[in-house]
Order: sequence, then C-alpha cells, then structure tokens
Amino acid sequence: MRRTIVLGVIVVGGIITSAMLGAQQGAAPAGQGREGRAGGGAGRGGPPVQAIEKVKDNLYLIQGQGGNTAVYVAQNGVVIVDTKNPNNGQAILDQIKTVTDKPITHIINTHTHGDHTGSNQFFPAAVEVVVQENTKGYMEKMPAFQEAANKNGLPDRTFKDKMSVLKGKDQIDLYYFGPAHTGGDAFVVFKNLRTMHAGDAFANKGFPLIDRNNGGSGIAYPDTIAALAKKVKNVDTVINGHSAVTMKWQDLVEWGEFNRLFLNAARESMKAGKSAEEAMKEFKLPAGKFQGYNVTPGGRGGPAGNMGIIYEELKPTK
Ligand SMILES: [Zn+2]
Repeated sequence: MRRTIVLGVIVVGGIITSAMLGAQQGAAPAGQGREGRAGGGAGRGGPPVQAIEKVKDNLYLIQGQGGNTAVYVAQNGVVIVDTKNPNNGQAILDQIKTVTDKPITHIINTHTHGDHTGSNQFFPAAVEVVVQENTKGYMEKMPAFQEAANKNGLPDRTFKDKMSVLKGKDQIDLYYFGPAHTGGDAFVVFKNLRTMHAGDAFANKGFPLIDRNNGGSGIAYPDTIAALAKKVKNVDTVINGHSAVTMKWQDLVEWGEFNRLFLNAARESMKAGKSAEEAMKEFKLPAGKFQGYNVTPGGRGGPAGNMGIIYEELKPTK
C-alpha cells in the first residue's frame, strides 16, 4: 500500500515536471519560426546548428536553428552577431571553439526576435550585449526575458543611429536607418572586411516579414533600405538574416527597389479600389529584374500576404 503511494507520487511528480517543462517551452519568445514569425512553432526545430564556415579572414558564419550567426575574431576576443533560437548557446560555442580559443566579449543582436536573441542568456553576464535602442525596449517585453534566468541576455549598451564597437582594424560599425522588418533593425558592418550582417531587414530574396507589433513598417521599408544603400560605403559582401549564401552589395540595392515596387503596387491597387487579395494575385515582377525572388502569392500570412499588411498600414487612421 505504502509502496503504491510512493510510486504514485513519483509518477505524479514526473507529470508535473514535464508539464512545467512544457510551460517553459511555451513561454519561449514569440518568433521561433523563420525571421521571427510569432507562433511559428514548427520552425523551432529546423535544421541543427551547422558547421562554422569562413566568410573572410577572422569572420565566420554559423547557420541553422534560427537566424544566421556571424562570428568575428577580434584581437582581444570574439564578437557574435545573433544567437539563434533558445538552447543553442553551447552548440554556437562549440563551433567557435573550432576556430579560436579567445573568449566571447560581445553579442550584437540585429533585432529582437527570438530566433536571433534566443541563446543570449547562455553567455556569461560579462559579455556585452549591444542593440539598437528600440530593440532594447522590444526585448524587455519578450516573455523569455521576463524569466530571471534569462535577464543577463538583455542589452547592456544601445545606440540610436550609429555607433562603433571596437577600434582600429577590428572596428565594427552599427547603423540604424528607420523601421523595416522591426522598428529596431541594426546593420552590422565589419568595416575592414567590407562585410555587413543585414539581419532580417534583408533575410533572403522573398517577401520580408513586416513585424508591425515590434515597430516594423512596409511604408518605411524601401526608404530604410535606400538610406542604407546610399549612406554605407565600401561593403561588398552581405550576410543575410536567413539566406544560406552570402550576397553582394548590389543585391541589397535591388532589395530596396523590390520593396519600393511592392509598396507602389499596394498604393496603386488601393487607389483603384482593389482588395488586398486581388492586388496580391496581380502583383508581378518586371521581366528580367529581381532574379531569384520568390513572390508566390500569399507567401506571407494568408492570401493577401504582405499586401494585406501594407494595406492596413496605408489606411488613414481615425
Ligand atoms: Zn526577425
């Protein structure tokens, strides 16, 4: 009898434990899916953390489990850009250890989403976390960062429009040009390597996720990318938020034009009284331009896709 009771307690204990674990996982940050789509639970798995790849001297890329992680080996330590989905800190560190024994000194997050900030808390509190100032506000609201154990993953230092991290040959310039994917997208330029991590403001060649809940804007998007393309000089290589291959600066310029084309199409269709769904169906790329772009109708959130999101934004506010 007594034995039965004890076993029962153990079983109940087991159930409680798994329920608690489930709750913790459920409380993980929104935006586990590609590029941070909220509620994209299926994206939480995804391909595992991949082997570290060299981009240029001292600069590496780690793909898998969320956004692309850039690893820069500076003179005095390692700077990481983005930390993937939660629970990938050890896997990221294991990959870094294959190229350097230097300690991690900085994490730069390109934006707030959990597939880019998810493993921040794995790294020691002494590691300085740097973000655009709006992103700090978005991160502080994320359920994941409400947990005491994750607080050390919150930003230690912010910038508004421009800031440099490190000096001399290790200089890394951070820029903000306005809303796009979110309202706090940082562009991270490894100055002397002529390489930029664009985060999800340029995730890949397809419709961007416009996260209006975190300050993103389809109206501002083309202007933000155009300002970046105009003001940042001497970059030839772009690491995208989720693309498997690096891109060229010209791809970034074209990306701005793509977003301009789409916004103009939304404006014209709205003026002509078309529904967002109709406008989405009719949207076409001009012949010979925008090679490699995936513009399948409804590719983003329902039949109207981004057309619906921009329509909402274009509606006059009362
Ligand atoms: Zn994102």
